[in-house]
Amino acid sequence: MTIPDIIIAVDGYSSTGKSTFAKLVAGEFGFLYLDSGAMYRGVALAAKEAGAIRADGSVDEAALQALLPSLELHFERKEGATRLFMGSREVEAQIRTGEVGALASPVSAYPFVRAWVDERLHAFAAGGRVIMDGRDIGTTVFPDAQLKIFMTADPMVRAQRRYDELSAKGGTDTLEEVFQALQERDYRDSHRETSPLRQAPDAYVLDNTHMTLHEEVVWALGVLQGKFGLYETPGLSC
Ligand code: C5P
Repeated sequence: MTIPDIIIAVDGYSSTGKSTFAKLVAGEFGFLYLDSGAMYRGVALAAKEAGAIRADGSVDEAALQALLPSLELHFERKEGATRLFMGSREVEAQIRTGEVGALASPVSAYPFVRAWVDERLHAFAAGGRVIMDGRDIGTTVFPDAQLKIFMTADPMVRAQRRYDELSAKGGTDTLEEVFQALQERDYRDSHRETSPLRQAPDAYVLDNTHMTLHEEVVWALGVLQGKFGLYETPGLSC
């Protein structure tokens, strides 16, 4: 079965499993996976390291703006996974902390940060056959993406997934705290002025509250088959 060289945009709330889903789809159907959230996390990490985050957690806008011209972020594939690099330094572990994830949300609300990230996302995706996940991929970054997917799940189920993930890494936040933090992030992401998180009118909605990963990939295959008139069903490895 040949899926055309399209761009697949995957948007949705925090902890809906967008990256896990997008990585699996990329592996099954031979697409390049690009994680736009990693770029915002990279900018947030750079801001933190450059002292552009004040002691009270607020962002020093001028300092943030000043660091962008010399900031270089890119992805490299290592041991089968895509990792973020800041210049020659791999920063994958540093950008995945709860602190940097929380900082990425206010940092990403600045229009100049979004323009900086969008320019790079376009350059990374220039070869086509890409699946990219984020908050505004189908609405702003690639409004002409041939397939748009909007992911959602019950908020408590998302909080439980995030809690399990953090606890496995030694995190000590309670389920209630994780739930609160998730609610705040969703609110900020969907109420900011520039590129808020919202469902594109032509997006297919994937609610994975009661789905396994295998079922999600089968769902994606069904959508691709229906949309592009592909009637052969390939075997899936997931
Ligand atoms: O998806 P992830 O949790 O890694 O994203 C971190 C933060 O980056 C999000 O909470 C959101 O504020 C921001 N983001 C964004 N637009 C995207 C991707 C992520 O604003 N396309």
